[in-house]
Amino acid sequence: MRFEKNLPVFLEPEAYFDLVLYASFCPVEISGTGKLILEKEKIIISEIFIVSQVCSPFFTVWTTQGQIEIRDYLREKKEDFSNYAFWWHSHLAGKWWSELDFKMIKKFCSQPFVEQWVSLLYEKKTGEMIARIDLMQPKRKTFDAIIPRLTRLFRVEEFLSHQSRRGVQIQTEIENKVFLPGGMKLKFRRKNGRFFKAA
Ligand SMILES: [Zn+2]
Repeated sequence: MRFEKNLPVFLEPEAYFDLVLYASFCPVEISGTGKLILEKEKIIISEIFIVSQVCSPFFTVWTTQGQIEIRDYLREKKEDFSNYAFWWHSHLAGKWWSELDFKMIKKFCSQPFVEQWVSLLYEKKTGEMIARIDLMQPKRKTFDAIIPRLTRLFRVEEFLSHQSRRGVQIQTEIENKVFLPGGMKLKFRRKNGRFFKAA
């Protein structure tokens, strides 16, 4: 996909629910990528996932293994990289880009094949989000994107049913892919598959 101006960024409910679950289960920052769809003057995030990363309360960085996971995923799905030119991450608190975030975005954008990049920040404390679009073509430009939360309204029951369907799976992904500095992993205690707490 390719676009040449600022566009609003929408989240599909399923992608939004996954984002909320990743962020709320993970006691430190967490990040990932996902699929972007360009549709009638808007960007839709239709899928969210994580890769191997090192995370603390103040940063989240994909490991080399994490970058390989994305490459393999795109290869396996025969997907174009431009549909995944997207980085999301959480902050425990703080709805603004940090100096480190600016550096990360700059690094993503400086990859030779990148024509545009979408970044999204989810603040865990409030559940608020901001998004940013970086265009390399036709001219280098950065926009704060408008981010209406969802493509449609949803009910709380919908989220809860998503959580009972995806919750344990998302926790398992966090256990497998999120490393704390020093190499430690997170472990969730579960009671009847319902009690969620990171130990
Ligand atoms: Zn950040």
